[in-house]
This record gives sequence, C-alpha cells and structure tokens, in this order.
Amino acid sequence: MIAGAWCPRCAHGFVGERERCPVCAGNVEPRTLNPEGILETYTTVHAPPHGFEAGFTVGVILLAGGVRAAAHWTGQGVLAMGVRVSVRREGDLLRFELVPAA
Ligand SMILES: [Zn+2]
Repeated sequence: MIAGAWCPRCAHGFVGERERCPVCAGNVEPRTLNPEGILETYTTVHAPPHGFEAGFTVGVILLAGGVRAAAHWTGQGVLAMGVRVSVRREGDLLRFELVPAA
C-alpha cells in the first residue's frame, strides 16, 4: 500500500501526503492506496531536470479508484501501454515495475 490523500469536496485522489487539494484547495483526508494499476503511457527523458541523469523512463499509472501517479521505471522487463504495474515509494521517488502475469 502507498500513502495518498482524497479530497471529499471535488472527489479527486492523489498519491502522497498533502494538506490541501491541488485542484480546489479544499481539505484532504489521508488514504491508503492499492499500489497496482495500469500503465497509461511512458516516455524516456533525455533532457532531465537538475539532479537527474538523462535516459530514465517515467510512466503515468492509473491506480484503482481513478488516482493517477507519475513514477520512474525500475528498468526490468519490456514496457507497453496497458500492462499491469505496481508502484512503490523509494525515498523521494515513486518507482514502478511490471506485475508478472498470473
Ligand atoms: Zn479538491
């Protein structure tokens, strides 16, 4: 499970701990989120921000409940849009990995 927050005013969910909703600035409630979801899209970053080396891959993951997360790929396996992935916190970063087929 990963830490998240839920805004009851506008019904948006978020990954990570927050005090205010970034959509409507309302108060949010802490939520625990299921870390598994679907990889909606991904890209490899060749012009990285300060503190990152070029060539890392980030993805957008749709978690249960409609919450989206942006996370760095662990680099294991072959990515495709629509595959099942799992997200975990690693220090300040969210990372995602493929969920093996059952
Ligand atoms: Zn809100």
